[in-house]
Amino acid sequence: MSNLSYIHEKDTAWLTFLEQIERVTPYLSDLKEHIDVLKRPKRTLIVDVPIVMDDGTIRHFEGYRVQHSLTRGPGKGGIRYHPDVNLNEVMALSAWMTIKTAVLNLPFGGAKGGIRVDPKTLSPRELERLTRRYTSEISYIIGPQKDIPAPDVGTNQNVMAWIMDTYSSGQGHTVTGVVTGKPVHLGGSLGRVKATGRGVFVTGLEAAQKLNLHIQNAKIAVQGFGNVGAEAARLFAESGAKVVCVQDHSATLYDSNGFDIPALQSYAEIHSGIAGFPQGKKISTDDFWQVEMDICIPAALEGQITLERAQNLQAKLILEGANGPTYPEADDILKSRGITVVPDVVCNAGGVTVSYFEWVQDMASYFWSEDEINQRLDKLMIQAINDVWTMAEQHQCTLRTAAYILACRRILTARKERGVFPG
Ligand code: NAD
Repeated sequence: MSNLSYIHEKDTAWLTFLEQIERVTPYLSDLKEHIDVLKRPKRTLIVDVPIVMDDGTIRHFEGYRVQHSLTRGPGKGGIRYHPDVNLNEVMALSAWMTIKTAVLNLPFGGAKGGIRVDPKTLSPRELERLTRRYTSEISYIIGPQKDIPAPDVGTNQNVMAWIMDTYSSGQGHTVTGVVTGKPVHLGGSLGRVKATGRGVFVTGLEAAQKLNLHIQNAKIAVQGFGNVGAEAARLFAESGAKVVCVQDHSATLYDSNGFDIPALQSYAEIHSGIAGFPQGKKISTDDFWQVEMDICIPAALEGQITLERAQNLQAKLILEGANGPTYPEADDILKSRGITVVPDVVCNAGGVTVSYFEWVQDMASYFWSEDEINQRLDKLMIQAINDVWTMAEQHQCTLRTAAYILACRRILTARKERGVFPG
């Protein structure tokens, strides 16, 4: 239970984070005495964002930027535009960013922002005005050395370009390093769009090798065929695996021989989904979780692997491309069934890792080729999964618990060494 006055019992996302922190506390020895620093955000900003609509009326929107931890460096985390955005959710998402950057050992803390709005109901001009006013409201707490936003649900590289431009106008000079996920000709990084899917693949290969699971002809099921799912599927298929089942918002398709992934990708782009693709057969949404598979890649939504699905899932390895796809009680079942889960805070950290590279390149005004980016990405992802694996062996715990132990130790060691001002 939270002891923050602005958090209530219904605020499940934040309470889930607190529960995860409780679970790792026994592994933190004398660093335990600093644990409370993770149980409250460092800084929470709620802003009113008024804009003039195209019809001349004025509307007010609620915006947030939460910096959960700045202990290891500037805040890092996306900005979400969604009608359900609220303080509790933004706090939890910012805390998970703290964990993710620490697992990857990136020199960042964790942050997240958002506006309570359905962006689809705004015209492009209204969306731009909303973004620019929101940026101006949070501008004094963001910056390349303070907190660096990025895209999340409902925002994209155009929104990042407006944030960069608005922030730069206030500073009187161009500051590309204030956001990541920008268009490439505005200081964005090559390889950013495919980075998360690539990270899923790289950590997956490493995990498979440790489990003696051969990728050649391994059967893979992928939920979500967007940025993350399609890229991971493409790389696995290129390595000889058979992607036998693919699900997106439009359909669930099955083919025991494995899909032609490039063809499916082209089809999905043209038709905004995989429904109607001529290869394979259509199966029901729920049957996705029952098909014969070696590797399952949930890469669409949170809360997908329920207790019941965990009991029946045939996979040996789960690669969490999405954030939070597995319920905690399902995690326990998977553990008891000997199914390995590479958790989201490692598996899908390729995006924030290349965001880090984007920030480094912006600061140096020197840009790397896509090959250089991919090599650096692979190196950091392999290091992270190996660090987590070793920790899990040492403590005989799941990779998720191990990732949290690793992250909390890094953050709390930094906290301890910095001391408490004024002492
Ligand atoms: P995306 O919008 O490109 O693709 C999402 C995919 O999920 C689409 O194929 C869509 O059809 C599918 N989908 C939507 N609703 C579905 C449903 N009810 N059932 C099955 N499939 C459904 O998004 P993305 O960038 O690929 O992100 C996917 C997940 O990965 C999200 O949870 C996101 O938070 C997480 N993630 C993404 C990144 C990144 O860099 N893109 C980084 C970390 C985590």
